[in-house]
Amino acid sequence: MKVLIVGGVAGGATTATRLRRLDEKCEIILFEKGNFISFANCGLPYYIGDVIKDKEDLLLQTPKSFKERFNIDVRIKEEVIKVDREEKKVKIKNIQTGEIYVESYDKLVLSPGAEPINPFKSIETEKIKTLRTVDDSINIKKYIEKEKPKHIAIIGGGYIGVEMAENINRYKDIKVSIIEKSSHLIAPLDEDMASFVHKKLLKNNVELFLKNGVQSIKVEDERIKIELEKGNLDADFVILCIGVKPESDLASDCKLDINSKGSIMVNEYLETNDRDIYALGDAVQVQNFVTKNPAYIPLAGPANKQARVVANNICGNKTKYEGTIGSSILKIYDNNLGLTGINESTCISQNMKYKTIIISPYSHATYYPGASQLTIKVVFNPDTAKILGAQVWGKESVDKITDILASAIRMNMTAYDLEELELCYAPPFSSAKSPINILGNAIENDINGLVDNITWNEVEKLKDAYILDVRTEEEYNYSHINIAKHIPLDELRDRINELDKQKTILVYCHTGLRSYIACRILNQNGFKTKNITGGYYFYTKIKK
Ligand code: FAD
Repeated sequence: MKVLIVGGVAGGATTATRLRRLDEKCEIILFEKGNFISFANCGLPYYIGDVIKDKEDLLLQTPKSFKERFNIDVRIKEEVIKVDREEKKVKIKNIQTGEIYVESYDKLVLSPGAEPINPFKSIETEKIKTLRTVDDSINIKKYIEKEKPKHIAIIGGGYIGVEMAENINRYKDIKVSIIEKSSHLIAPLDEDMASFVHKKLLKNNVELFLKNGVQSIKVEDERIKIELEKGNLDADFVILCIGVKPESDLASDCKLDINSKGSIMVNEYLETNDRDIYALGDAVQVQNFVTKNPAYIPLAGPANKQARVVANNICGNKTKYEGTIGSSILKIYDNNLGLTGINESTCISQNMKYKTIIISPYSHATYYPGASQLTIKVVFNPDTAKILGAQVWGKESVDKITDILASAIRMNMTAYDLEELELCYAPPFSSAKSPINILGNAIENDINGLVDNITWNEVEKLKDAYILDVRTEEEYNYSHINIAKHIPLDELRDRINELDKQKTILVYCHTGLRSYIACRILNQNGFKTKNITGGYYFYTKIKK
């Protein structure tokens, strides 16, 4: 069997090595139009920020190491320019020599990835860059070190934009701005959780232009003049991080099925509409594991998993790709942000029944030094108690919590399962009741009617909300919601007659635990209550 693979990074290189492990005899040729294979795309922002000092560290494999260990014929600087499905042949162009030649295949694998969107390609300047390849990162780093720009504008506030902002911020005396068309950074976050990210960036002197798209860009007197929907901005250098589009021209030219957004369509075996051609990675449309709807989720983990599925299927071991959850994590200065599954906005846009819960537990037992507060927002189905998605912000354990919740989503677990998980504990690591158990408990209490949770967003929509603050005198005096009535939790039983039984009482404390206890006292005394999830802590974080 002869297998040709287009694209030599995450999806392509992993398919090739898995194939070799399954079949020692098959001929494998890997084509990569760039200079490197199997490089660490995800490390590029950290190379620019000089966290990764040596560019060699970004190169995980070389054509030589692939030949020696896996007997794979790697051809770099060679671009596959045409696929002839009838003849089962591809045309390849050697980028250095211009030579064009043909190779036949039994199976063809397309892992060409996605290219950064650049609506400003026609502007002739060295001062507007995108970031995808090792060479891109070398060029950006060289420019910064040589030209010493005073102001860099990052257009697009997704994962890469935010990582770039932090990494450029490592250089002294460079002002960094992020311009983002939507109302918040990191699109898969809900707006309330995005406030944590905004505050962190602002605190580190990153200038934010939110809800403010770019209208036009011009180069004038060595400066980049950016016209925004609201106002203007001058910068010395621009990095475009406005998303990626699938590299699917090769596939569409040979009439493989492509969706309206340009992603190659594949079935659950990652076969295209030609059974001898597979496609994977950033170039393909996947199924969102939670909504079961078509989705575009370009991430390294899914590309690697899909590679294994493709290699298995080529070798006759029928394997399904079950869909992508969208688990991701990002370091933002001394904080971390974890995401998995779907968010509240997706539930609303897809008309799904959902509820949210927000808890702010400590990362480990508070009596052991160094514990820090986490904020965990979980979206769940109130009928089935299934976990649909989570957003986690904090300094410690963010990866652990997000990964457990990602596993819960993948295994169709419910809040009841979270309550029962027995997770490891000693004071430096967690609490005897881990944040995951607490989440399960909190959701179970809500579903079983012990408490009815409401979010600040919902509270703000209510006219004449009757709000009760059950924090201590000291906390209340420090700051509080103006219209809130104050009765500390420990005085509630004695002062219960001060409350109006005809109204629904919305109760808050610092993070939601004391207000839950207050709701239980009030409910059992005939009052109608709602617990404001996330508490005053969350309120102060999400307020602008
Ligand atoms: P790629 O890895 O992009 O590989 C495709 C390769 O195909 C390219 O090298 C391209 O040159 C080559 N190619 C295309 N067409 C042809 C052709 N016709 N002939 C020959 N070669 C061709 N994901 C995460 O999960 N976590 C992260 O932290 C993260 N950080 C990232 C940071 C940056 C700066 C970037 C750019 C991406 C990041 N990603 C991250 C995304 C992740 O890198 C991709 O999801 C993953 O690499 C996709 O794998 P792929 O094989 O589909 O595409």
